[in-house]
Amino acid sequence: MAVVSRLARSTTFKISSLIPTIISRKFTSSSLTSETTLHSPSSWNDTSNNNGRNPLKLGKGRDVHWVFLGCPGVGKGTYATRLSKLLDVPHISTGDLVRDELASSGSLSPKIAEIVNSGKLLSDEIIVDLLSKRLEAGEAKGESGFILDGFPRTVRQAEILEGVIDIDLVVNLKLREEALLAKCLGRRICSQCGGNYNVACIDIKGDDESPGMYMAPLLPPAECASKLISRADDKEEVVRERLRIYDELTRPVEEFYCKRGKLLQFDLPGGIPESWPKLLHALNLDDHEDDQSAAA
Ligand SMILES: [Zn+2]
Repeated sequence: MAVVSRLARSTTFKISSLIPTIISRKFTSSSLTSETTLHSPSSWNDTSNNNGRNPLKLGKGRDVHWVFLGCPGVGKGTYATRLSKLLDVPHISTGDLVRDELASSGSLSPKIAEIVNSGKLLSDEIIVDLLSKRLEAGEAKGESGFILDGFPRTVRQAEILEGVIDIDLVVNLKLREEALLAKCLGRRICSQCGGNYNVACIDIKGDDESPGMYMAPLLPPAECASKLISRADDKEEVVRERLRIYDELTRPVEEFYCKRGKLLQFDLPGGIPESWPKLLHALNLDDHEDDQSAAA
């Protein structure tokens, strides 16, 4: 904990020496071999021709140190989960880390409980500390990487993370705002079983300027259909404000990784059936898809 409190007062981010060395040592072996192996991020941002490709080839035994960014409602957790299964690496969300620490009464849990109960936000240092512990435990178990979901959220977190571990790819999932808004407004929860559904059927007609987009609704089974409720904050003004704040907060994070040549912008072309194969293609994982379908 002394490390964490020192970090909190630190004004610079040369902190790798303060973080347990096992993390920085063990988890840096597999980052991109050199900057020249990466195309410029702008070449990944060509949305006219589907999506650009991550030229990185995943070899056997190569670790995956990836971050998934994307605004609320974009389906980030869904894609991160699918990829983590495909690549056999854990999908780590900081929300889960906090819940797990509290549930398991870990060493940080009294402090976290106090902060959470007083309605305050956890500091970046506590979050990174939890993450370090998680990565260290994973390394001890022989995990060959991770996919981080929704972290880092700020440049400060990105800077701290950079001192702990090399991130080799940051995938920013994006969805057209009209589709995103419709998806957020279409969210429904079953008041009885808690199941999550989406009644929005997105069918945007294409024109010369932009392609069309279709996203099927995720309709509830008959027994839930009459018990659907929506979250009080899934109202248009609130959703727009949430997206605006997200954008303001994370745009600098995108720039941070863009400057380092690690950002892959991925525009979701539709729902999972359209997006998943294109995402695999953009990540140079087509072979994995073949493996998977051959095995199925
Ligand atoms: Zn139900």
